[in-house]
Amino acid sequence: MFFASDNSSPAHPNVMEALVNANKGYTSGYGDEEAMDGVRKNIRELFEAPDAAVYLVATGTAANALALATLTKPWETIFCHRNSHIEEDECGAPEFYTHGSKLTLVDGSDAMMTPDNLQTAIDYTGRIGVHNVQRGSLSITNVTEFGTVYSLEKIQSLTKQAHESGIKTHLDGARFANAMVALDCTPAQLTWKSGIDVVSFGGTKNGCLGVEAVIFFDPQMAWEFELRRKRGGHLFSKHRVLSAQMEGYLADELWINLARQANQAGQKLAAELSKFSEIEFIHPTHANLIFASWSRSTHEKLAAKGAKYNYWPADPTSTGSPEEKISARLACSWSTTDTEIAQLLSCFS
Ligand SMILES: *Cc1c(COP(=O)(O)O)cnc(C)c1O
Repeated sequence: MFFASDNSSPAHPNVMEALVNANKGYTSGYGDEEAMDGVRKNIRELFEAPDAAVYLVATGTAANALALATLTKPWETIFCHRNSHIEEDECGAPEFYTHGSKLTLVDGSDAMMTPDNLQTAIDYTGRIGVHNVQRGSLSITNVTEFGTVYSLEKIQSLTKQAHESGIKTHLDGARFANAMVALDCTPAQLTWKSGIDVVSFGGTKNGCLGVEAVIFFDPQMAWEFELRRKRGGHLFSKHRVLSAQMEGYLADELWINLARQANQAGQKLAAELSKFSEIEFIHPTHANLIFASWSRSTHEKLAAKGAKYNYWPADPTSTGSPEEKISARLACSWSTTDTEIAQLLSCFS
C-alpha cells in the first residue's frame, strides 16, 4: 500500500532494458551519442516542432531552474502560483540559478492561477519603472501541485496575458503525461499551441529512473541553456544514462500508457474513497493525485495496517482528538495495482 509519491514506484522494465542495452560498447558522451539524436528526433515529431531544442537533465528542479534562468534576468520576476513546486519545494534553486530573480506569487484555488490574479500581479510589477523588479517569465504547472489539471483554454488565457506583457512562458511538466492523458490532447496542444515557450517534460515520476527533458520551442534560447546546464554541473558526461531512459520511455507510447494507468488508478481510488462518509476531498482529483482528509483515528488504523502516504501539507501534531480531521495526499503511479487499492480501501471499513 505505497501511496506516498509517484517517484516511490520502480522504474518500468522497458526503461531498465533500454539502459542495459545502452551500456553495451563505446559511444560518445555529453549528448553527442547516437541515442540522443534519436530522442531529439522523436521529441520533435511528438511535439510537431521540427526546430525545437531538446535537452536532458536528471532532476525536475534542475530542469525548472535552468529553464527559468534562461528566460529570466536577475532583475526580473517569475510569476508562479503560491503553491508551485518552484516556490515551495526547490530550496530556492530558481533564485539561485537566475542569480536572484524574485518569484511573484499568484493566488487561485486548487493550485491554479486565475487570469485576474495574474493580471493584477503583472500590472503591479510594471508600475514604478526602475524601482521595482521587471516582468520576466510565467511558470505554470500541469498537473498542478494539488492534483488538478488546467484546461487548454485556461493555459491559453494565461499565456496570452504573459505574451501581451512581453513575458516568456514555462510549463513545469513533472507530470506532463498525466495532464495530457487527463485532457486527452496532443503534446503540441498542451505546449506551444497553447502558448508555452519552454517545457520541463517529466520522466522520473512516470516510470523512469531519473530523467527530465527541457524543450525550447524557440531554439534561439537554446545555446544559453546549454552554457547554463554545463556551468551548473548538470551536463552528464556519460549522457547515455539519460538518453537511454528517454528512448525507452518514449518507445511504443510507453509514457502515455503509464500515465493512463496512473490516472486510472487515481480516478478509481478517488471514486471508491468518496463512498466513505468521513472522507472529505480537499481538491478535485483530475489525474493521479488525491488530496483528502479523514479522522486521526482512521489515520492511526491505516498506519497500523501498513498504508504509506504523506500527510499534507505537513505532519499533524502528536496530540489531538481522535475525531480531528487530518489531511493527506495519496499518489497513484503506473505501478499501483487493483489489489493495492482494494487493500487500502479495506483499511477504512
Ligand atoms: C516532483 C516535481 C518536480 C521535480 O522535482 P525533483 O525532485 O527535483 O525531481 C517538479 N515539479 C513538480 C510539480 C513536481 O511534482
